[in-house]
Amino acid sequence: MEQIVIKKPELLIPAGGMDTLKVAIDYGADAVYMGGQKFGLRAKADNFSIEEMKEAVRYVHAHGKKVYVTVNIFAHNDDIEGVREYFETLHNEGLDSGDTAIDALLISDFGIFTLAKEILPDIDIHISTQANNTNYMTYNFWYKQGAKRVVAARELSLKELKKIRDNIPEDMEIEAFMHGAMCISYSGRCLLSSYFTGRDANKGACTHPCRWKYAIVEEKRPGEYLPVEEDDRGTYIFNSKDLCMIEYIPEMIAAGIDSFKVEGRMKTALYVAAVTRTYRKAIDDYFESEELYRANMDYYREEIAACTYRQFTTGFYFHKPDENTQIYDNNTYVNNYIYLGCIEEVITKESSADALDGLTGDSDLNSDTGLFVIHQKNKFSVGEKVSVMAFDGSNIYVAVCGIYDEKMNPMESAPHPKQLIYIKFSDTDGIRPGMIIRVKRS
Ligand code: SF4
Repeated sequence: MEQIVIKKPELLIPAGGMDTLKVAIDYGADAVYMGGQKFGLRAKADNFSIEEMKEAVRYVHAHGKKVYVTVNIFAHNDDIEGVREYFETLHNEGLDSGDTAIDALLISDFGIFTLAKEILPDIDIHISTQANNTNYMTYNFWYKQGAKRVVAARELSLKELKKIRDNIPEDMEIEAFMHGAMCISYSGRCLLSSYFTGRDANKGACTHPCRWKYAIVEEKRPGEYLPVEEDDRGTYIFNSKDLCMIEYIPEMIAAGIDSFKVEGRMKTALYVAAVTRTYRKAIDDYFESEELYRANMDYYREEIAACTYRQFTTGFYFHKPDENTQIYDNNTYVNNYIYLGCIEEVITKESSADALDGLTGDSDLNSDTGLFVIHQKNKFSVGEKVSVMAFDGSNIYVAVCGIYDEKMNPMESAPHPKQLIYIKFSDTDGIRPGMIIRVKRS
């Protein structure tokens, strides 16, 4: 009897900038998606210039992973020439060939799709969730046009996804959201942000007015705000919980999903590290054995809860969202950990003589404890206990024994954001460049 081999799904992680891209790859992403500086949603993310894109593609490919670029706005007439020029630049700069070739473009708009086919025929095209892909006819339509993959609308159930899988060609890929913020509209079909702030959600500039706190004003009594109260803190009418499917990996695989997508190109490196390594471990555990996956469930829940989030939901996957899918008492994130920095370099006893050459200060630095170089993200002090997130999913707990500025002057704390500092920990075992340092919020 022929044995059915289930392919491991791709873990696809957002990269808002070069730092988060490296973190995603280091912590186990199979692929990353990023925006160029034009025509990709998420205008507030750092996004990538052409030169940064080349560097990013080389970095990702050197690790044997894939990189996709979003061009998923809905274009107006005035955008068309700009998109054409942008695609021509990608071509002229070699982003469609050789070691800098982007693996796929994420597109929503038919016009942009047509231009991509014409100017960048060698790059695969994935159809963005913005295009609201809700049925197998749509998938088959895009397949015939030459798309390789379609990103499912967030509004589909797993049953519907399975039906799509059963009615599309085997080599057509389905990408579906696994984790992250939900949009209360059909993605991309919301004018709230444009209306209230002039910032267009369909051009990546959503200000999330769906999560604001609202009151009613009667037209003849301007300035008098009548509260809309669901409880004593007010009401957040459209404040959806965040999607989290870490407990349902078998169900997502059974639905025939090829790529598990995490939302959030504007998230921090800490968030990206925590989500990536937890899903990485959960997927790998499941493919080792279902028992192992079930046995580690508490670990996944705990690690995922260590990210910033708004309480979790399974979205539309099992049933239509109901009143339990909303948060009514606040519109802020749960934020259990503080991001202190990412280790950029480890100066060991062997390397320290060269690395510290010319710097003054503490002779004790040549001890065998090693030094870790970071750009500080949040304040911490000597004596504090912090944890380093190892790539394998474990956490290394250490005390901060010393902090030094760039001239090796000792400091009691690291109060200046982005300052380059050297840290000495109580232990160095297993700590590598690229690992994130965090501390639990007290
Ligand atoms: S305002 Fe809310 S519902 Fe509208 S596009 Fe933005 S996130 Fe989605």
